[in-house]
Amino acid sequence: MKKRNKGINQDTIQGFNRSLIISLLRKQGMCSRVQLANTTGLKQATVTNIINDFIKWGFVKEVGFLNGSKGRRSIGIAINTDTFRVIGVRIARKYYSVGLFDLTGKMHQLQRVETNLEEQPKDIFSNIKNMIQEFLNQNRSYTILSIGVAIPGPFIQKEGRIGLMTEAEGWKHILIKKELEELYHIPVILEHDANAGVYTQQWHSKEASECEVLIYVAVGQGIGAGIMIDGEVMKGSLGTAGEIGHTCINFNGLKCSCGNTGCLEKYCSSIAFTNAVNEATKKKYTFEQIKELTKQGDPLCLQKFTEACEYLGIGIVNIVNNFNPDMIILGDEMAHINPSLMYNTVCETVKSRVIPEVWENLKIGFSNIKNDSILHGAAIVAINEVFENPARFIEENIHP
Ligand SMILES: [Zn+2]
Repeated sequence: MKKRNKGINQDTIQGFNRSLIISLLRKQGMCSRVQLANTTGLKQATVTNIINDFIKWGFVKEVGFLNGSKGRRSIGIAINTDTFRVIGVRIARKYYSVGLFDLTGKMHQLQRVETNLEEQPKDIFSNIKNMIQEFLNQNRSYTILSIGVAIPGPFIQKEGRIGLMTEAEGWKHILIKKELEELYHIPVILEHDANAGVYTQQWHSKEASECEVLIYVAVGQGIGAGIMIDGEVMKGSLGTAGEIGHTCINFNGLKCSCGNTGCLEKYCSSIAFTNAVNEATKKKYTFEQIKELTKQGDPLCLQKFTEACEYLGIGIVNIVNNFNPDMIILGDEMAHINPSLMYNTVCETVKSRVIPEVWENLKIGFSNIKNDSILHGAAIVAINEVFENPARFIEENIHP
């Protein structure tokens, strides 16, 4: 109901046009003003105005000449990677990571820390704050424009907090966005981890960026889907859309802390896979140990992994029937154990359970970002915010 009967004002259009130009500069690396106008379909005067603003704020810069038609040379424009940085943070159930990125989305620094479920969320959060502070101290030569934080869902966007983190309940009482903004005076953008993942695919893969319906499925310690339709992430009313980990695949199944029974993530998350192996072996392996055993071809681990992938396939059938995607990208830690076994098992399950036309139109694949798509996505939402709402950043951070 909220957005109905709303017009589009000038600022919204301007924000949209700015994003268009930036995404082109990101894909091409360097463009002339004429190329930007021709490719985006915007008037040259509009492009010139936007580029002038971007140059004034230092977001883009002129870099040498491009050879155009009829031997004409024109000035090349590129995103400025010298002055600004953003920080990406990922909070997962059993680790957190912090990365430093430039405005093209390239990662320059990374720290990852394992945590365990006995640690209090408030203590983990205070360690995360210390690490962000360390990054800020080490990068005083740059202006840090924004901080993007990817968190597991269900996530309550309006309040800037996690709604439920299975097995780590304390998180829901922490106002992540508010606390970080008060501490650093830098805009903080929270995003659901799977949504962050889908932004990364759109940003770094040409094929993914051209999909009408693109879905990133994070198969990690929880399971979530980032659903992108015509370039926009579907958020739902509170921002909790895409919580496929809590869709039911067995209504007589295991009880979940969300209130439902037989939730998908109870059967194929990395935590569920670890539990399944430990129950069968009566051992207390960690996920990392089981990952190694599976890679070495341990028959029981392979069997449990295959079962987990079958369950995942059933969850994906539900997604396919709901959204009819062009492409589904599988990511996060379960996708890095044995990608070909996961691919074959998921494809077999999906192919046998959806109608042939839908199957033939569907591509299933893996992320081309090997080092934590979701952390990269946290940075991308921070960068998007800079380009879409530059006024938020220039007044506070940029001194002429
Ligand atoms: Zn659930």
